[in-house]
Amino acid sequence: MLHIFCPHCFELRSEEEFHASGQAHIPRPLDPNACTDEEWGDYMFFRDNPRGLHHELWDHVAGCRQYFNVTRDTVTYEILESYKIGEKPQFTDKAGTAKTATTALGEKV
Ligand SMILES: [Zn+2]
Repeated sequence: MLHIFCPHCFELRSEEEFHASGQAHIPRPLDPNACTDEEWGDYMFFRDNPRGLHHELWDHVAGCRQYFNVTRDTVTYEILESYKIGEKPQFTDKAGTAKTATTALGEKV
């Protein structure tokens, strides 16, 4: 079972309280009418499936009901960080070299 730090509640909570909502940081096209069908289809349906670091959107459904982002290693399931929407992730290494994980409160996750 994962323990996920909610950046809104400032608590480490059980995975059962959360819902994963897919890949994070997917920019919506500024003018959907200017997109080709292929560009719109890519935006709507195609997501990355990396081996290693992945930024995901999560919802604290049984808590504060706020959305936030998580950086997770898809190989080890280790959650490296969680951060509010609009904030930049600390871990962006697409090569997947994991670093020591700590939450905003300095707790090891
Ligand atoms: Zn919360």
